[in-house]
Amino acid sequence: MQILHRFAGSIQRYSEELSDAERYRPDHCPQCEANHPLRAHGFYTRTLVDIAYDGTIHVRRYLCRCCKRTVSLLPEFALPYLRFGIVVIALFLVARLLFGLTLKAAAESAKLRAMPYQRGQLWLRCFRRQAEKLCAALATLIAPPAAPDFISRALQMLESIGWIAAHRFLFANLRAHLLGWPAFLTPDGRLTTLPPVAPPA
Ligand SMILES: [Zn+2]
Repeated sequence: MQILHRFAGSIQRYSEELSDAERYRPDHCPQCEANHPLRAHGFYTRTLVDIAYDGTIHVRRYLCRCCKRTVSLLPEFALPYLRFGIVVIALFLVARLLFGLTLKAAAESAKLRAMPYQRGQLWLRCFRRQAEKLCAALATLIAPPAAPDFISRALQMLESIGWIAAHRFLFANLRAHLLGWPAFLTPDGRLTTLPPVAPPA
């Protein structure tokens, strides 16, 4: 299970603070609700592309002694299952969809100079597909503004709330993923399990 680590600061600061297992240790298990602190359980690494950062980061893991399941503390500037950080994706989407820049100019404004054309197209497609769902989910936080369509309404709401704050809210109860859950986690961010295949008769 992934939970978000509320962290406002540079990636470098994040990496420094990570060495202290006590600092953000969850005091109870979010999965079985056992009411005792979780035990530090190493790290996993993932890649991250952010403004002025392109490399790997460590994500701290904790283990629950009761249910034996792990909880990882994903920093909230990173999107689950996406290599690119929220800030660069936000800059790109706003530049393209709100300000009408070309794909290339939008990528440049997000400091993604060498970004392949197809990746930008994919983000746009994912976001367009999510827009209506995002508007509905974020209406709990802010009154939906008047806008010609769901895409610009969702963008305006995200800009007002702040993309990271909105992501934190959406993620908390798996309401929605900013760009939609990947196929293996649909619907709604849950791991899908396939029924066992019956052996051939
Ligand atoms: Zn547990």
